Amino acid sequence: MRHGRPVTSTLSFRSWDTLRPGPRLIVLGGVHGDETCGTRALEALEAEIDAGALVLERGVLTLVPRANPLACAQGTRAGERNLNRSFVPRPAEARQDYEDHVVAALAPVLAAHDVLLDLHSATSDTVPFVMIELAEPDGVPFRHAEHEAALAGALGLDVVVEGWQDVYEARLEEHAERAGVPVTPEDRAVGTGTNEYLRERGGWALTVECGGHDDPEAFAVALTVTRRALAHLGLVAAPQGPHATAPAAPGAAPRVLRTAVVVDKEDPADRFVRPWQPFEPVRTGDLIGVRADGTEVRASVDGAIMFPDDDADPGEEWFYLAVTSDRPLG
Ligand SMILES: [Zn+2]
Repeated sequence: MRHGRPVTSTLSFRSWDTLRPGPRLIVLGGVHGDETCGTRALEALEAEIDAGALVLERGVLTLVPRANPLACAQGTRAGERNLNRSFVPRPAEARQDYEDHVVAALAPVLAAHDVLLDLHSATSDTVPFVMIELAEPDGVPFRHAEHEAALAGALGLDVVVEGWQDVYEARLEEHAERAGVPVTPEDRAVGTGTNEYLRERGGWALTVECGGHDDPEAFAVALTVTRRALAHLGLVAAPQGPHATAPAAPGAAPRVLRTAVVVDKEDPADRFVRPWQPFEPVRTGDLIGVRADGTEVRASVDGAIMFPDDDADPGEEWFYLAVTSDRPLG
């Protein structure tokens, strides 16, 4: 860590090793500092474990309530940059910003686990959803795809999104092609967040968006999905404690959506024709937005709008489209 940082920028986490064989699970809160639901849920769980109210049966559990300590102390998305991009440890002399130091400290901790649950919330109100990876990103079978799908199904959320990374990488390639330059390893690293990092290291990972930042239910969702993950993986006997069953018990089949298209904002004056709700259905040809120069932007697939962001900067993602996936959740 750099000199002169306040103590609030210190990374801390706790691990419990049951000394019995089982999955090694790490749960992150506060990768984005203005998303407090995960932080609060993990602190609540920590207190339960200390009090003996939550008993771990097997495996290893690590809780990191404030994965980006500086951002959490500031209450901002980032400290000096987004921790969930370029999550690639660099040698000491190549670390340029605060998050480079966090990555260097956190990456080996992540890599010592089999499974990551990364708890987030969204800028605008959204139904809670979970993100997993495709069975075959780049046509290469992802050996933990079934594990991710089964855990996603066990969380009891309404929506499961798969295949973000493929579409994001295709976007990088398009950008490079338009600029007439090759995609550099540095560009590719941008698309590596916490989940992608652990997958590259042989593990598997899920990101849960627990609702909007200000949604009072987001804390309950964060706690519930963590309890269900503990039970699904066999670290605890069954989901237990407050919010063990809220908001909904698993049972109803979630919608599984595959990320299909990303559309960037090009000009600050590009505007949606109306506010879009996350996962709102669209049909091919539906008018979604209008560019600053009057060009209409229409849906190119039948599916749903994902991550609509009318405040995106030019060159950043404006919205994604997803199509229905027939992926079974195990
Ligand atoms: Zn986030």
